[in-house]
Amino acid sequence: MTPATPSSSSSQARPRILTGDTPTGTLHLGHWVGSVKRRVELQSTHECYFLIANMHAFTTRAEQAGDIRRDSMEIVRDYLAMGIDPTQSAIFLQSEVPAIAELTFLFAMLLPFNRVMRNPTLKDEIKIKALGETYSFGFPLYAVGQTADILAFRPVGVPVGEDQVPHLEMTREVARRFNQIFCGVSEHAEDADHVRLGGTFPVPRADVGAVGRLVGTDGVNKMSKSLNNAIFIADSPKEVQKKMGKIFTGRQSPTEPGDINNALFQYVDAFITDPARVAELKDRYARGDNLGDGHVKQEVAEALNKMLEPMRERRRLYEGNDAAIIDILRDGCQRANRVAEETLAMAKDAAKLGYFSRRLTLD
Ligand code: ATP
Ligand code: MG
Repeated sequence: MTPATPSSSSSQARPRILTGDTPTGTLHLGHWVGSVKRRVELQSTHECYFLIANMHAFTTRAEQAGDIRRDSMEIVRDYLAMGIDPTQSAIFLQSEVPAIAELTFLFAMLLPFNRVMRNPTLKDEIKIKALGETYSFGFPLYAVGQTADILAFRPVGVPVGEDQVPHLEMTREVARRFNQIFCGVSEHAEDADHVRLGGTFPVPRADVGAVGRLVGTDGVNKMSKSLNNAIFIADSPKEVQKKMGKIFTGRQSPTEPGDINNALFQYVDAFITDPARVAELKDRYARGDNLGDGHVKQEVAEALNKMLEPMRERRRLYEGNDAAIIDILRDGCQRANRVAEETLAMAKDAAKLGYFSRRLTLD
């Protein structure tokens, strides 16, 4: 049931946030520290929408549609494991919210092509994922689509990792430009004033998590699901230990003064919870006080397993139960469509495209 004109949900009782993940694999520690932990903190005070970007996964995985579907379901399990509560937060599929695709088309007209191609995250992805010259037309389009994912929900903030900040900047540009050309908002208006001045879209801010860029177990690249350098939320205690053991530091012996800014110590900082212990490890490592990398890795692995154990337990409740996941997604898609359809109707009105109202139903 989707009202086509602004309704009670536009007088937002709680500030709204939107963010999401692409099913190019399942979720890892980078997702937890960069974005999901923040989402769990915000879900009792904010109206939360968490999107599974399954259409965008086709940019690099079009020949693996079955894997995209499997990973979409697994990401929902990861969310539940990490503490996202589907009765509070809407978990939904991008492919089941048509307003997003329609807004993508409209927003594509507002962004110069060269501006899209200058997006540094897009450039990095082309390089790191070795996409060469063969990437699809849909690959740069996904960056435009992401502006629509976000703005369809008119959120105040977007909890993301550091790599997403350029996408957020593009989203902010689209919101400003839309409000200026279709809603008469002055180009001198402050971002915070756009809605008050009649703009359809708020200019949302990036809300970067405690660790904006967790390095992968290769010690070089950002931990990524598609780079074979990730410790996954669903990994077993043994796998966690084995992967931690692989982190390369180049240090030769426990008595060699070590670099406390290396990849291993990013994990110490992110996952050892006792600040006094972190300080002690750093002090001894820096002085080469008989503290081997193996010992530090072991201690981080223990801290990780302690953190992951309750998540594994919650995950087990949903394993093998696809029907429960589909129910959660149906409910989330219904809630997401209510807001996205409302936004689309507002945007179409503003752009003189509003002719009829429509109702969308899911079975
Ligand atoms: P892919 O390799 O397909 O790009 P990914 O591992 O980068 O996958 P995304 O789905 O692109 O994951 O990112 C989802 C969210 O998690 C984004 O907000 C992103 O910034 C955040 N994120 C992903 N990896 C990390 C990381 N290593 N550190 C901090 N945040 C991260
Ligand atoms: Mg990514």
